[in-house]
Amino acid sequence: MGKASSAKKVARAARAGGKRKAGQRRQLGFPIALGLIVVLGLATIFVAKTSNDAAADSSNPPRVGEHWHAAYGVYICDHFVANLSDEGADALGVHTHDDGLIHIHPFQAAAAGKQATLGKFFDETGLHVTDAEIKLPAAKPFGGRAYRVGDTTCDGKPAEVRAAHWKNALEAAKGKAATKTFTSDISGIRLSEDLGAYTSALVPKGAKVPPPPGAADILQNAQNDQAPTGAGGVPPGGNVPPGGNVPPGGNVPPGGNVPPGSATP
Ligand SMILES: [Zn+2]
Ligand SMILES: [Zn+2]
Repeated sequence: MGKASSAKKVARAARAGGKRKAGQRRQLGFPIALGLIVVLGLATIFVAKTSNDAAADSSNPPRVGEHWHAAYGVYICDHFVANLSDEGADALGVHTHDDGLIHIHPFQAAAAGKQATLGKFFDETGLHVTDAEIKLPAAKPFGGRAYRVGDTTCDGKPAEVRAAHWKNALEAAKGKAATKTFTSDISGIRLSEDLGAYTSALVPKGAKVPPPPGAADILQNAQNDQAPTGAGGVPPGGNVPPGGNVPPGGNVPPGGNVPPGSATP
């Protein structure tokens, strides 16, 4: 027995050592794998819950096929900027007709229910609103102008990003206080009813945020949007969406097929 056999012994020892190491790795690996399974399981539950929420959007207005309007404005220090325009085709069903209104008629679940947010409108028009800045769209007349907290002052006063939401645009136009004001996550604000109003603003801390200029005319502009469809403003066979946007005194033809309870109160 010479070199060869002692080499075998060394090899056997190495194998044994290797096995031991592999065993130790397995022992360590098991809890890690278990942890991974738990994490993956939780993630699956979370994803399932999230898509359930999206699916459950059929129970949360605006539903796909509904058509709402909201007045909006972007207010910098002491003035409203010009009406925004769509940057491109509307893929989801939240857009504007350069009329100071957000037209909310989701045709994708991604813009319905809880997913119908101001952020969807910002995306559509190229507006950016974060807690730290308001950046206007790149297109004319805005030129991508940005107003940043810390940089922008209003009449020498440091400014902050704030937003206000009125559930009733007409009352907003008459000076009623906002239903709610926000100082963060403005793009996450939900579009929660027909004929509401929203202002996103950069104003001195604590300053009042005024209602958007389009609030007073919201009924007329909403009607304009629907007018071209038929003699009476409602297409024959009356496709007035549930909760439809027929203004008071609206052009519903006599005997028009407006589902009961669908006229705007
Ligand atoms: Zn519309
Ligand atoms: Zn439209």
